[in-house]
Amino acid sequence: MPVATNQKTPENNRPLLVTENLKKHFIIEESLLAKYLAGTKDRVVRAVDGINMKIFPGETLGLVGESGCGKSTLGRTVVGLYEPTEGNVRFQDKPLWGQGSISNMILRRQAQIIFQNPYSSLNPRHTVRQIIGVALDARGTKSIDKEAETVGLLRRVGLRSDHIDRYPHQFSGGQRQRIGIARALATNPMFIVADEPLSSLDVSVQAQIINLLEGLQEEYGLSYLFITHDLRVAYHISHRVAVMYLGQIVEIAETDMLYKNPLHPYTQALLSAIPSVNAFHRGERIIIEGTVPTPINPPKGCRFHTRCKYSMPICEEKEPQLLPVDISEQKGHSIRCHLHLS
Ligand code: ADP
Repeated sequence: MPVATNQKTPENNRPLLVTENLKKHFIIEESLLAKYLAGTKDRVVRAVDGINMKIFPGETLGLVGESGCGKSTLGRTVVGLYEPTEGNVRFQDKPLWGQGSISNMILRRQAQIIFQNPYSSLNPRHTVRQIIGVALDARGTKSIDKEAETVGLLRRVGLRSDHIDRYPHQFSGGQRQRIGIARALATNPMFIVADEPLSSLDVSVQAQIINLLEGLQEEYGLSYLFITHDLRVAYHISHRVAVMYLGQIVEIAETDMLYKNPLHPYTQALLSAIPSVNAFHRGERIIIEGTVPTPINPPKGCRFHTRCKYSMPICEEKEPQLLPVDISEQKGHSIRCHLHLS
């Protein structure tokens, strides 16, 4: 499969979605305190901790990073499932929260989410007709048109019209994910968060679902925030890729640029582990030393400094900001690292 090549982020293009210093912190319940936090009084999980990003019409922004770095929380917050602790999300220039915010009904129609495990996200007691019917209702589809609409959606995602009265358990994993995609499409959205949509599927089925998502993007001009821990998948499907570490974006760039010339030591280490994709990077595999710090008590200064082999005194003291790389041919490439910013 070729890497996504279309340039979707020309400077004159207005973003569909913007996050402004977005934070989502969770307060840990008293009953869980002992388990997670022996000896500390801190109760806040800084799952998403200051994200500024833009997603443009028709583009796929891949979001990668180790498990627990905040990808799902960010995905849920940008579609309004979680209320931010601080900051905001703007969708088509309207804030999701606060004064002048976009109506829930419009947001529910225009921003959808596809989950990792289609089985648990589809009501097992509902037929496909009912599952998609709920989404069609949100779009205000007339009863008389619902069957034809549902059949059209099923066909579009590669299912058959006679699947309409079956239950989720009667399908394979790949087919269930197709139902999840049909349900997301039913509201006629502009933006879809795909949260690890391939990780419960076999490799051959993964490729089919990627092709389906790419075809739908082309046809409907959809924008995706594609969450994955798999850098090979991100490479194939994304126009740009953002790398997350402990609640923050540490590097973001167009896909080719990021994979050919990763600048952040964390991105370099992640990419060095997948030689099949990273034919450009012929160096040794870089092992990241040390344990992953918790988002309850992230390290002071640069959050990655405890595991970074290039760590300097400034890294322990001062938090670097996510700033554009100052090289003309690296347009749109930003990193959060003192090495490149000092
Ligand atoms: P990822 O998707 O990258 O694996 P998550 O967004 O699921 O990461 O989680 C980020 C951090 O937030 C993790 O430490 C996780 O345990 C914590 N977290 C996620 N959801 C909740 C919640 N509802 N309550 C408390 N902590 C949470």
